[in-house]
Amino acid sequence: MSFPGSALTHLQCSYTGEVVEADRPVRLSPAGKVLFARYDLQKAMRTLTREALRSRPANMWRYAEIMPVRRPENVVTLGEGYTPILTARRLGKLIGSDRLFIKDEGVNPTGSFKARGLSAAVSRARELGLSRLTLPSAGNAAGAMSAYCAAAGMEAHVFMPKDAPIANQQECVAYGARLTLVDGFITDAGKRSAAAAEELGLFDVSTLREPYRAEGKKTMGLEIAEQFDWELPDVIVYPTGGGTGIVGMWKAFEELEQMGWIGSKRPRMIVVQSEGCAPLVRAFEAGKEFAEPFPDPRTLAAGIRVPAAIGDYLILRAVRASGGTALTVSDTEILDSVGQMARTEGILGAPEGGATVAGLKKLRESGKVARDERVLLINTGSALKYMDVLGPVFERR
Ligand SMILES: *Cc1c(COP(=O)(O)O)cnc(C)c1O
Repeated sequence: MSFPGSALTHLQCSYTGEVVEADRPVRLSPAGKVLFARYDLQKAMRTLTREALRSRPANMWRYAEIMPVRRPENVVTLGEGYTPILTARRLGKLIGSDRLFIKDEGVNPTGSFKARGLSAAVSRARELGLSRLTLPSAGNAAGAMSAYCAAAGMEAHVFMPKDAPIANQQECVAYGARLTLVDGFITDAGKRSAAAAEELGLFDVSTLREPYRAEGKKTMGLEIAEQFDWELPDVIVYPTGGGTGIVGMWKAFEELEQMGWIGSKRPRMIVVQSEGCAPLVRAFEAGKEFAEPFPDPRTLAAGIRVPAAIGDYLILRAVRASGGTALTVSDTEILDSVGQMARTEGILGAPEGGATVAGLKKLRESGKVARDERVLLINTGSALKYMDVLGPVFERR
């Protein structure tokens, strides 16, 4: 396939609407909020057609016109995206959900959907002439950035809480990144990464603090629409940390509607967090626009141990606009659900994926999701990164 050009036109503050030039490195908007990439969708539609998609590669760059990279030689890809949506009949039977599906992001390069965001961000960084990157991470983002930087021949610095999953620490080292373990939470790692950026002249690709990781995660929304033949499911259950996935999917649906590929109906977007770290659930319940930092965050689902998210207002907007909800699950429920998903579907999912199963059980019990609704769970990663914390799942019973 010849690489169709990106229809990227500018960046825009997701809070104030202010326009920012796209072709130089930039992180937040002048107002300190999340920047979104904007496209000339009319132009994109000239080559991005349903027919054209049939012969595009089975990775997230198949949507090149509405991806932010202009030149094909800048794309750093390991084959990320276009992950399967599996029918989960046996699990569905167990929890009373007749039309249940799982999008399995565990099959991505580096074992999680963080590959999408980092493929996009590292590619665009390369295009803008940046070659030394840093980021704070609960684990999977660090592994993904390290891999994409290795593939691109770029320098990677990663900052992780010292109790991040061992596999994530090891893979960063294996990919040749400079790993610093931080005594504290991801927010503390964020401060260290920002300081290193300042000191060493690195570009910080913290999630939603630069515009392109969200574009990578947006492709989950594009794929969901395409794989469901342009009929979105009724409910999407998402294990939410920084919320880049939910923000990205929501943005994808908006762009698809503007291109006339879907209507105005949206899935109810469901945020699942852990009882031990639930800033968005608290904000949702309190009717707030922004979330308060969650004190002393604790959960074995490292990817959703995020006490404060810069995109909180965007996540909460999507949940409310869609008629969705936000709820918590316990770590015990998460572990039980990981085991159930493995035994019934043959998917050994990340604890975060288990959280979506646990969340759906509660939604079925409360009646907030009906038995015959089409429900999509996002299993965001593979359990293989979490062998050190998943012990109880593997005990013989
Ligand atoms: C990062 C991560 C999450 C949370 O993703 P966000 O889009 O930042 O909310 C969920 N699951 C896994 C496995 C992750 O690595």
